[in-house]
Amino acid sequence: MTSIPANMKVAEMLGIGRVRLADRPVPEPRPGEVLVKVERVGICGSDLHYFAHGRIGNYVVQPPFILGHEAGGIVVALGPGVESPRIGDLVALEPGVSCGRCQFCLSGRYHLCPDVLFFATPPVDGVLAEYVAHPANLCFPTPSGLDSLDAALIEPLAVGFHAAAQGRATIGQKAVVFGAGCIGLMTLLALKARGLTNVTIVDLMPSRLNKALELGAHNVVNSAQDDYLKAAKEITGGYGFDLAFETSGAEAAARLSIESVKKGATIVLVGYGQTGEMTLPVSLALDKEVAIQTVFRYHHVYPVAIEAVAAGLVSPRLVVTNSFDFADIQEALDRSLNDKASVVKSVVIVSG
Ligand SMILES: [Zn+2]
Ligand SMILES: [Zn+2]
Repeated sequence: MTSIPANMKVAEMLGIGRVRLADRPVPEPRPGEVLVKVERVGICGSDLHYFAHGRIGNYVVQPPFILGHEAGGIVVALGPGVESPRIGDLVALEPGVSCGRCQFCLSGRYHLCPDVLFFATPPVDGVLAEYVAHPANLCFPTPSGLDSLDAALIEPLAVGFHAAAQGRATIGQKAVVFGAGCIGLMTLLALKARGLTNVTIVDLMPSRLNKALELGAHNVVNSAQDDYLKAAKEITGGYGFDLAFETSGAEAAARLSIESVKKGATIVLVGYGQTGEMTLPVSLALDKEVAIQTVFRYHHVYPVAIEAVAAGLVSPRLVVTNSFDFADIQEALDRSLNDKASVVKSVVIVSG
């Protein structure tokens, strides 16, 4: 067992577009917490949004601020009262710490807790740090065969699984996913894990559509070049899709969702988009009696997502296109932000 140092490196965001490594004391795990040595951190669209704009809605970054909420690492110390996980376990960290007492928590929908504290959502620091202390019950041990990259990617995979669950996706349905970024691809994986054999991915960037094909998309449509509505008709025999997932946040995609689903279909809105507002053909949605669902993070999904990876049903690591050393955090964020055509998903090697 390696000893735990007094200080650690963290990546501090100092202002818009600026990040540097700095020293901070290693946190002490409080009662009910474990100390995790972070090995891999996935960079998410929300991290990049904070990095580029300094805020998402009312959440405003006050520098120095630590980004990152997708972490996998090794438990190295236990706070008082902790029996599980154990020292040495590889864990996937579920980021949201909820109050446990409000109506939402008590009804099991703890992700909607108004007092939830979530990694890298200001003012709560994230996981781009060598060590993080976190509640033991939110550190899910992973079975042998998984590594810390798999563990880090359980977080975005959980969003995909929650989206699929919100759509009640089942085998036999035809689905379309708008957006082949990380969350769109994770949604594809979740749909495949739920047995769907006909999933269409729509995006504007050829590199992302190639990634979707590599991950097992059954059809891809480049909506910049091809006639999407014509393709949708052909794929669905003229009926339209049973299910649509809008992960891009683009109004045009949400509109195409309504236009291309079957009557009685379900549309799941996942992407926030730039402004958070859209104008949509509601009368067409009513004519089709479309059910519209939304997704906010996830709840009770980590065990399912871990099992799906362990069983070999899905491999979220295939979504990763780039990895960076911790020392190159500035480059990692710059490239992920500015080279979206080739960088689909970046991972930072924090340690190990
Ligand atoms: Zn994320
Ligand atoms: Zn609560």
